[in-house]
Amino acid sequence: MIGDSTLLDISVFPQRPEADDWAFVFAGRNTLTSLRGQPGVPWRLEEADALWHLNKELAVPIGYWEGKATWAFSIPEDSHTGVEALSGNLYSLLGRVDDALFHAHGRAYQLLHWRDTHQYCGRCGSPTSIIEHGRAVACGDCSTRVYPRISPCVIVLVSKGDKLLLAAAAGYQKRFYSTLAGFMEPGETCEQTVIREVREEVGIEVGNIRYFTSQPWPFPSQVMLGFFAEWQSGDIVPNPDEIEEAEWFDRSSLPPTPPNASISGQLIAHFLQAR
Ligand SMILES: [Zn+2]
Repeated sequence: MIGDSTLLDISVFPQRPEADDWAFVFAGRNTLTSLRGQPGVPWRLEEADALWHLNKELAVPIGYWEGKATWAFSIPEDSHTGVEALSGNLYSLLGRVDDALFHAHGRAYQLLHWRDTHQYCGRCGSPTSIIEHGRAVACGDCSTRVYPRISPCVIVLVSKGDKLLLAAAAGYQKRFYSTLAGFMEPGETCEQTVIREVREEVGIEVGNIRYFTSQPWPFPSQVMLGFFAEWQSGDIVPNPDEIEEAEWFDRSSLPPTPPNASISGQLIAHFLQAR
């Protein structure tokens, strides 16, 4: 038995797919899970193989799930019938399955996406091959190595006394109001990103920045770093390119907010509990 039985162990990579292993199967952006059993649980490899004749040469090692070797497979988008498998995008599993299972799915998707987008060297254009048991790809010509890339984003709940700042992003149907978020730039600290993003998106200055927690966000390869920050000066002026509407909200009159499975939902819940 390798590692904790309930979590994905990525300290060891499996070497060769076996019938009894686990398989996460994706068709394009959709994850396929068995109609039998719990949603989101991976397939037995032989079961998925019987349905889709998986190409084992293209198996992507994920780690060990419940002590068993686990792989990710990508099948052509038109090759699943929907009869034997439930198809849905990865986001639809968020909050419906436990965090450990969601993160395992997310890792599988991220690694498939990385492989798919790194078949050729970004430096010289030659084909790449897998090295280090699947941990990296290397160019056969110029030896450039590329490891899976994770893009850090900050996500921040800005407060002003008892009120919190929530915004509806531009370009979406106004499904809910969320905390502010943005990608880190090369050379920035997390705190600098928080200050810059808040300034760019809503035109105010913040301080007293405190780290909260983080969440892998495989859409396709971010990690969200959650922070609290306090208003220091300025009036809210939404940047129309990014924000449709932003306001200070009182806890007694909150708009629809993201689910607790997302770090934004957790930031909001934590703020409300602490008051
Ligand atoms: Zn190259």
